[in-house]
Formats: sequence, C-alpha cells, structure tokens
Amino acid sequence: MFRNSIKRSALVLWRASYLSVVGGCGYLGYSIYKEMNPKPQRLPDDGRKKLVVLGTGWGAISMLKHLDTSLYNVTVVSPRNYFLFTPLLPSVPTGTIDAKSIVDPVRNIAKQTPLEVSYLEAEATHIDPVTRHITVQHSANPATANIAPVAAAIQTQLDYDYLVIAVGAQPNTFGTPGVYEHAYFLKELSDAVKIRSKLMQNIELAQLLPRDSPERERLLTFTVIGGGPTGVELAAEVKDYIDDDLCKWFPGIEGECKVQLIEALPNILNSFNPKLISYSEFILNKIDIDLRVNTMVKNIDSHHITATTRLPNGDSQTVTLPYGVLVWATGNGVRPVVSDLANQLEDQTFAKRGLLVNSFLKVNGALDIFLLGDCTFTKDPPTAQVAHQQGIYLANLLENLARIDELELKLDLLESNDSRVVLLEEMQTKYKQQLKPFKYSHMGALAYIGSERAVADLVWGDWNSVATGGSLTFLFWRVAYVAMSLSVKNKVLICLDWLKMSIFGRDCSKE
Ligand code: FAD
Ligand code: NAD
Repeated sequence: MFRNSIKRSALVLWRASYLSVVGGCGYLGYSIYKEMNPKPQRLPDDGRKKLVVLGTGWGAISMLKHLDTSLYNVTVVSPRNYFLFTPLLPSVPTGTIDAKSIVDPVRNIAKQTPLEVSYLEAEATHIDPVTRHITVQHSANPATANIAPVAAAIQTQLDYDYLVIAVGAQPNTFGTPGVYEHAYFLKELSDAVKIRSKLMQNIELAQLLPRDSPERERLLTFTVIGGGPTGVELAAEVKDYIDDDLCKWFPGIEGECKVQLIEALPNILNSFNPKLISYSEFILNKIDIDLRVNTMVKNIDSHHITATTRLPNGDSQTVTLPYGVLVWATGNGVRPVVSDLANQLEDQTFAKRGLLVNSFLKVNGALDIFLLGDCTFTKDPPTAQVAHQQGIYLANLLENLARIDELELKLDLLESNDSRVVLLEEMQTKYKQQLKPFKYSHMGALAYIGSERAVADLVWGDWNSVATGGSLTFLFWRVAYVAMSLSVKNKVLICLDWLKMSIFGRDCSKE
C-alpha cells in the first residue's frame, strides 16, 4: 500500500517534470518564433505629430517597447545602433559573456512596433527649444571608420512636436589630468573590447621579460579606479579570469598578476547595505584583490597613478602606484548636448549632473521636451532600473497626450454644443489619468563580487527588505539578469555563454 503510494507520487512527479519541460520548450519556441517574425507594420502617416527620441539605451528602448507607435511619427536618433544590456558589460572583457549576447539592434526592436519607426545613426549636437529644431550629426569618426570624410561631416536638422531625451551620461573624469590619454572606461561595448585587448597584450608582453623585472610587474598590474558597482564587478571578473583560466595558459600568473581597486571614500559599494559592504570587502580581500580605500586619484601618467591616501590618524600621504592596464570607473558626467540645453534654459541654473524635470518627466523651462534616465537630475539613482520604469511611464503619458491632442483637434472641428460638452468631459478624464506623477519603485540592487559570489540588497513594498550575499545570491544574480535582458535571443545567448564557460573555460585570445 505504502509502496504503491510512493510509486504513484513518483509517477506524478515525473509526469509533472516531463510536462514542464515540454511546456517550457514549447513556450521558448513560440517566443523565439514571435520575436523573429514580427507582424507587418503600418507605414508612417503624415497627419501624426512628430516624436523624436534621442538615444537607444535603457530609457529610450523601454519607452519604445511600451509605446503605441501608431499614435506618432517616431524617429529615433542615436550614435549607437543597438541597445546594450549594461549589467553584464563587466563580464565582456574576460570573455565570460560574448559581446553579441548583450546587444539588440535598434532596427530589430523597431520592427516589433505597430507603426514603422525611423532610425538615424547620428548624434544630437544642439537642441533649440524655441524653434523646436535638433541639429544632428553623423557620428562616425573618419579617423577610425572606413568612410569618406564628407560622410563623417554630414549634419542635418530635425524638427519635433514632442522630444524625448534619453542620451544617458558620459564617464566623469572630474578633470583629473591624464585620464583621457591613458585610461580606459567601461561604458560602451567598444570599451570592453579595448580592455580585453590591452590586458592580453600586456600579459603576452610580460612573457618577454624576466620574472623579477619591475617592468614585468607593472605590465601585470590591472588597476580599476572607483569602487562603485562598475569598478567592483570588473575587478572581480578580471580576478576570476586570472585565477580560473589564465593560470592554465600562463602557469604562475595568478601569483604575478595583481588586480587593484582604488576608492576615494572609506568604503566600496556605498549605495549598498553596510552589512553587504563589509561582506564584499571581506570577499575581495580573500580573493586577493588589492583594495585601497580612502585613496583619491589626482593624476595619471603613462605608467603611474598619483593619489592622496588618508591615513588612519587623519594625515594625508601622496602615493605613486605603477599600473599596466587602467580602467576609470568613477561614475557619471553630463553629456555636452544636455549641458548645452541647460545653458539655454533659465529654470536649469541649478541643474548639476543632468537636467531638472518635473514629476511628469517634463524638462523644467521647456515646452514638450521629456527626459529619461541618467541625464535627469532627480533624487532617483542613475540606474537601468530607474530608466526602465521612466520609459514605461513616459510611453503611457505620451499615449495619453496623443489622445488628448486628437480630441482637441476634433473639438476645433465641432459645431454643435452638445457634442462639445461630451468631448470636453472625455478630455478631462484623459487629463486626470495623465496627472499621475512618476513614482520610482525601488526593487533593490545586485552586484557580482567574484569567486561565484554576489550581493543582493532587495526591497519590496515600502518596508520589507533583505540584504544577502554568497553563492546562492550569485545564482539569483544570474537568474535576475537573464530575466531582465530584453530579448528572448539575448536570454538564450547569455545562458549558452555561461554553459560554454563552464565546459570549456574562457580562452586567452587577444580579441
Ligand atoms: P544609456 O543606457 O547610457 O543610453 C544612452 C543612449 O544615448 C545610448 O544609446 C547612446 O549611444 C545615446 N546617445 C549618447 N549621446 C547621444 C546624443 N548626443 N544624441 C543621441 N543619442 C545619444 N544599472 C542597474 O540598474 N543595474 C546594473 O546592474 C547596472 N550595471 C551597469 C554596468 C555598467 C558597466 C554600467 C556602465 C552601468 C550599469 N548600470 C546598471 C547603469 C545603467 O546602465 C544606466 O543607468 C542606464 O544605462 C541609463 O539608461 P539611459 O537610457 O539613461 O542611458
Ligand atoms: P559610482 O558613482 O557608483 O561609483 C564611483 C566611485 O568612484 C565612487 O565610490 C567614488 O567615490 C569613486 N571615485 C570618484 N572619483 C575618484 C577618484 N578620483 N579616485 C578614486 N575613487 C574615485 O559609479 P559606477 O560604479 O560607474 O556606477 C554608476 C551608476 O550605475 C550608479 O548609479 C550605479 O548604481 C549603477 N550601476 C549599478 C550596477 C549594479 O547594480 N550592479 C553596476 C554598475 C553600475
């Protein structure tokens, strides 16, 4: 009797697993089919208002994915013709994740919208909020791109009825001498590729020198400035790469190669729970990352960093540290097109790391210009999570605006008073719906800290939170990032990359 019931339970369990696998595969297949075969799109209609979107990052793409594009004639302008899934960018220089697995071409995304969206590969250089003109310039650099100089100089003007600015931020150097000349950033995919190439070039170069040579020691020093999440995740990934894979091709390199993380404040990961900060510092020390806090970098030359270290007794000391590869990850600065617009608007006199917006994400002091993501100057942090939520909010707001505009047009054409009253009531309802301000709902933060460990500072509701770190959190980190990536194709490619790495390890090619 007992044995029978066990047998029956096992059978039920087996059937349930079998059905889940079949169901899961079916759903995945359907999702891939749907993504690869979008419905035919309608062509733009001249009667619609012109909506120009600057940028193809988190804010812009989240808005585009949620917007009913049949309400506008939409033009997207960005020098980058793809969306980049930044949370996994620190995994690219080491080859944990393949560059192609975290990009989604904007034309692909634009194909999934109801009405055709045009895309221009260009950079907005000037916005005139009075005439509603945007100057855009073809962004290719003739020095690096294989195009005629005339193509590189192409400049044109676009006009808009509504403008959405989602140009993000640029790396902030705080005016530190030598950063642009000698350091790498980690902001774009091309940065990750350059870091990889320099790291491998230095390792190969070091093989030509004797083991006790100071130059060999310098070449093998990988330094990251900035102990925010970008700096910590990159240092952790590089250390893993050296300890798990490079040591197979270069025996003894794990003892020779030094990964250094320099932070001006007393702690790293300052936006995280203090318990997680201590845990992360403990792990980074344990895996032998040379962590230097209270150390503010002041100058960089081709081989050395000069920094001021605050000692425990409160005194300051100037230190000079040699480096082989240097990555500058000290946070966000304002893009020129944003500061240019701020300079034209009186209401933006106090704007610092972006433009001031009202609670509907409308730029203070300008008509019909909205702003998203890292280029806003608000109390919300400059994260993908914020930009993504703002994008969804703005898509709804713009849809409502289009409907109100449509009603206004109808109102102008109406002659009977009764119909006018009905229409006016409808408009008032729409206005009320629109009058909900943007409210960011923080879900928490995650960061990879090396040796298959991560930290998670999770929040739900207004009061509940959990701060956790370790190997299980690392699994959660992986699941969360796969879930967050935008396309099914990318989700599959990211999982395959992790599988590939666990079977074959990461290779040591220079590119
Ligand atoms: P972006 O995503 O940076 O997009 C800006 C877009 O504007 C780009 O397409 C750019 O090409 C375009 N552009 C630039 N200049 C112009 C111009 N003049 N005209 C037109 N277009 C222009 N946040 C998290 O929440 N979680 C994470 O795990 C996380 N990890 C990160 C890891 C790294 C390495 C980095 C660098 C950032 C990470 N972030 C993370 C932060 C997150 O990426 C940003 O907050 C987010 O990208 C902001 O979105 P955005 O749309 O404002 O800007
Ligand atoms: P950040 O602003 O979070 O950190 C930069 C760090 O550099 C700061 O701790 C600062 O004290 C330090 N610094 C500045 N100048 C310095 C100097 N001269 N010498 C030494 N240290 C110096 O920057 P970030 O890590 O690039 O992150 C930018 C934004 O993106 C943040 O909002 C962050 O939360 C988000 N982000 C999130 C994740 C994640 O959630 N996993 C990952 C990357 C980025």
